[in-house]
Amino acid sequence: MKRYFIHTFGCQMNVNDTNRMGEALASMSYAPTPVAENADLIILNTCSIREKAEDKMLSWLGRYRQVKLQRGALIGVGGCVAQQEKKKILEKVPYVDFVFGPDAIGKLPEIIARIESEKVRVVETAWVDSESYVFPQADPKSSLGKTTEFVTVMKGCDNVCSFCVVPHTRGREVSRPFTEVLQEVARLTTVGVREVTLVGQNVNSYLGGISFAQLLLRTAQVPGIERVRFTTSHPHDLSDELIEAFRIEPKIMSHFHLPVQSGSNEVLVRMKRDYTVANYLERLAKLRVARPGIAVTTDLIVGFPGETDEDFEKTFALCEEAQFDGQYAFVYSPRPKTVAGLKEEEWGPVPHEVKVKRLERLNALQKQVSVGVMSQHVGNSVEVLVEGASRTNPLKRMGRTSHNRVVNFDGDAPVGALVEVEVQASSQSSLAGVQGRVISLPLVTIPEVALQPEACVVA
Ligand code: SF4
Repeated sequence: MKRYFIHTFGCQMNVNDTNRMGEALASMSYAPTPVAENADLIILNTCSIREKAEDKMLSWLGRYRQVKLQRGALIGVGGCVAQQEKKKILEKVPYVDFVFGPDAIGKLPEIIARIESEKVRVVETAWVDSESYVFPQADPKSSLGKTTEFVTVMKGCDNVCSFCVVPHTRGREVSRPFTEVLQEVARLTTVGVREVTLVGQNVNSYLGGISFAQLLLRTAQVPGIERVRFTTSHPHDLSDELIEAFRIEPKIMSHFHLPVQSGSNEVLVRMKRDYTVANYLERLAKLRVARPGIAVTTDLIVGFPGETDEDFEKTFALCEEAQFDGQYAFVYSPRPKTVAGLKEEEWGPVPHEVKVKRLERLNALQKQVSVGVMSQHVGNSVEVLVEGASRTNPLKRMGRTSHNRVVNFDGDAPVGALVEVEVQASSQSSLAGVQGRVISLPLVTIPEVALQPEACVVA
């Protein structure tokens, strides 16, 4: 049997795409290997959201070249850098056999068969930007051992945030018909999945036959499903209907990732975000009334072109006011083809050392808030869906709370069990404790496997 190794960079969309690649390869009798040196096929599933994505890709390709020399492994590049650079990758790296975009994942068997039979190098980066796009159907067998799984509900993005490369690499929005989504969720329950995360670049603008709020409510009603999550959302599409869904459906988990990006209205205009700080805070307040105690996380960019000290202080003040449970803050870096990248000189680049200082201040604030929030759990009980052995200590169990907080605990509950855990200690990013009452068990026994997909490394 041939073996594949996929190196995954970036976001949950890419992790989800890696799962789909694994399924496509399984149909050709390829099996995963956790060791690149043992692979007959290596794929880099790239991300171009941050600076130096191409350099990073080239550096990793250099390391995998040895596997090509020693074993004759095929080497492919997928994901956003592939979509962006297309055949330029083949021109730059003579030992890459194929380049494929996110819409060509289903064609992997065809691509590999062509390379093997015709001895050609292949570039497959066409977009399918219409309702005729067929979303790959996940094979429930590939979810064996998992009680939590991603389900794609849409692809692409119709927004034009001036810093973002996604519309250039993932194309226009296409929503998956809601009946297909619900069928996939139902199939996943047959292997023990109890929690699904509906994923898309901007799920709030879902148009698959019903609204996104209705899709969440319908997903929560699928027999066997106990928990529903989603990612990611644009604040200007956060509807009252979606907020109401949080009020009425307890199976929608108490976590909302709502990227704000900046606390300055002037910067938000240049970012083309289409909301003001006041709009954002008003949505947040409404959400917190509908679901008291909900965990809200966000994305922030510091040092966006033209960001003054005063602009940054507004972002800092927003973070103090919003008291986010977590943040993903990054220093701005220009991305190819984006408006902000093209206009950086005109708007005023922010010196790197200034960006770094601002980032450090935001991170220090977040650490203080997160440590405080997490410590409030100590001495209390939390409800946890068990995902398997702890990543930090295989003798312990690991799961997540409704608020998406990682809990490592002493216990013996099987994968898929919903249990109470008495929290004894906390850090900025996780809780630790001891298992208490088992609330419920999955409908089917779930085999214990390594938590991280074996052939996937997230960097
Ligand atoms: S909403 Fe904006 S930041 Fe998010 S994927 Fe679309 S263009 Fe990028």
